[in-house]
Amino acid sequence: MGFLPLVFAAATAVAPIVSAERIREDVRVLASDEFAGRGPGEAGEDRTVEYLSKAFAAAGLEPGGVDGLWSQPVHLVRLDRQSGARLSLTVDGQTQSLTPGDNATLVLRNAGRTEVEDAPIVFGGYGVVDSSRGWDPYRGVDLSGKIVVVLANDPDFEAGHDLGFEGRRMVLAGRIGSKFEAASRAGALGVLVIHEDAAASYPFMQVGSGDALPAFVLAPLKPSPMQFTGWLRRDVATDLLARTSLELDSLKRSAREPSFSAFAIGRATVSASADVRATEFTSHNVLARIKGSSRPDEYVIYGAHWDANGRNGPDGKGDEIRNGAVDNATGTAEMLELARAFAKGPRPARTMVFAAWTAEEKGLLGAEAYAANPIYPLAKTAAVINLDPHVVLPAARNIELIGGGRTELELRLAESAAKVGLRVTLEPNPEAGWYFRSDHFPFAKRGVPAIAFRAGRDLVDGGTAAGNAIVETYNARDYHQTTDAFDPGWTFAGTAQEAAVAYELGRTLANDGGWPGWYPGVEYGAARISSDAERIPAK
Ligand SMILES: [Zn+2]
Repeated sequence: MGFLPLVFAAATAVAPIVSAERIREDVRVLASDEFAGRGPGEAGEDRTVEYLSKAFAAAGLEPGGVDGLWSQPVHLVRLDRQSGARLSLTVDGQTQSLTPGDNATLVLRNAGRTEVEDAPIVFGGYGVVDSSRGWDPYRGVDLSGKIVVVLANDPDFEAGHDLGFEGRRMVLAGRIGSKFEAASRAGALGVLVIHEDAAASYPFMQVGSGDALPAFVLAPLKPSPMQFTGWLRRDVATDLLARTSLELDSLKRSAREPSFSAFAIGRATVSASADVRATEFTSHNVLARIKGSSRPDEYVIYGAHWDANGRNGPDGKGDEIRNGAVDNATGTAEMLELARAFAKGPRPARTMVFAAWTAEEKGLLGAEAYAANPIYPLAKTAAVINLDPHVVLPAARNIELIGGGRTELELRLAESAAKVGLRVTLEPNPEAGWYFRSDHFPFAKRGVPAIAFRAGRDLVDGGTAAGNAIVETYNARDYHQTTDAFDPGWTFAGTAQEAAVAYELGRTLANDGGWPGWYPGVEYGAARISSDAERIPAK
């Protein structure tokens, strides 16, 4: 039998559980201008929290937040860079002014005035410090008062072979946030990352257009010895290197050597100045639950971030609102539909928790706040299923697994997908490090088995070529932009398939009583093993 009969079987299996029409309606509302791009702490937050709470209540769920409420407070600090920020590079006394948002970006770390004048530049290679792999480009190098310029991604993503960093797939130390922490620990005053499309996994336009948006951190704001971070557009970086008789490709080659050591780029300095207004406020995760029938003190969590990028910063042009229709009204709507499906269906054995996280776009802050201070014990949380789909696609033959090869949940996912006539394929671009880039990750790093997947791009109509075309257009043009807006032409067929798989997976995890873990050797396994005694094995 070919897969066509299976696809038709899938369509009939999906239909009674999940409604593409209801998902579409929730996306339409959440992505409308009245929700103002769902910026945490902005006018869109109140609307969103109210909408989600009412939708959960209407579906018959119980409040799942703190003190019998629908929410969990998340205390944040918003950092608004004021207009007039300056960033410049000087080589041999010749100064080049950069334009944040156009050929560089600039994120300040402290409130008030930041002033850095003629700080020497150090080239830090990939900026990856990993003592377990014996890599530390900063060993014995004095970074105090200096700005480190680093390459994006990890040392072997374009080496053509594995240097100990999982080959083309990105390791956590290759994320820019990890590079910032490593350089900060080594005493650097700032970090600038050389932007290349493949290494960053998105075009410069993505980071440039986000430059004037506020940064958020979990409260309280602690004074940071590291003053700023940012990106340099590739041509700016290669020009800087040329003026100091260096060349990007040969620097990359030497940075791939485990013995590589950071070195000063003689005669080159960076200056930066800006004012930042810091505002403390309280945002909210929204949580609902369905109490389990026989194992109520064990949990399966569905999560999706409700936030998008809100209104543009002071330098924004034209359309003010980044509606976040795909990212992530879609995942949020999908989660609401799953809540309805579970509320209507037979009561699951374990308690089902539905969590809409805040401030994912600002660094997974809502999920991080929850995982650091969980309402339901992490040791008794069997799994976290994260819904952050990324593109709205027509019906497909597959589901795409993000960050495969980590947890036994992947076996359950394959079984669940097969039940609705789909196969699981691996994400095609593991160098993008998606496993570290959404709300399942704060759980994974604490040992809770966590999985993320999205609608597949092997479309029933047009195959992978047609799916790739839609994904690539979205990534190049719409991701995090004002154009990520509701499209009345979307069928949400792929989203409904994804939801059907998520439903099957959650239902299995809730009812079979097992505790899937991590594959041997996966770094998150140790944290889980430390709480093994708290979990009662299924009979
Ligand atoms: Zn997202």
